[in-house]
Amino acid sequence: MTELKVLLSRDEIAKRVNELAAEITRDFAGEAVIFVGVLKGAAIFLADLSRAVKLDATFDFIGVSSYGNRPSPPQELKAGWDSTGEVKLTKDVDQSMQGKNIVLVEDILDTGLTLTYLKKLLEAHQPRRLKIAALLDKPSRRKMPIQGDYVGFQIPDEFVVGYGLDYAERYRNLADICIIPRE
Ligand code: 5GP
Repeated sequence: MTELKVLLSRDEIAKRVNELAAEITRDFAGEAVIFVGVLKGAAIFLADLSRAVKLDATFDFIGVSSYGNRPSPPQELKAGWDSTGEVKLTKDVDQSMQGKNIVLVEDILDTGLTLTYLKKLLEAHQPRRLKIAALLDKPSRRKMPIQGDYVGFQIPDEFVVGYGLDYAERYRNLADICIIPRE
């Protein structure tokens, strides 16, 4: 069994998620918001964030995969695996986003390829406002000039799991965010 190292405890995560929720509540005061979660990693963050926000809110979900370039689990652990930059939509949103306030909710902002693709896709709906909430951010890995509007934590270039994030589909249900140490 791989030994995991806690990077962010459940209490630290909860505190920061509540702070982000307060910012979103303030920024969209009196307006309705659609939280669009990126499957599957953002599901837990979306559940906690949306419940802490005091707004008229609804959910939607969007799914993506990278064209043939999701690395094998061992490759995933090595820093610096490179994606081809091609992102494929596996599930679109269920409703028109035209004229709506959208908060796109993602687990981690890494190279930025996924969120660049999704931002463009959702902007084509002509929303009223589109903001990005990313729980984690690895700025050192960025390839595209994109930033989150609500970012939980900046983290070093390590492979993390827990709180929705997986390693070969496991560990999503860990309450803490943990590092899988590289060999
Ligand atoms: P980007 O397109 O920004 O490079 O990739 C974002 C996606 O890469 C995330 O949604 C997540 O699926 C995956 N990813 C990037 N870094 C990590 C990590 O440290 N742990 C896990 N579990 N997934 C990661």
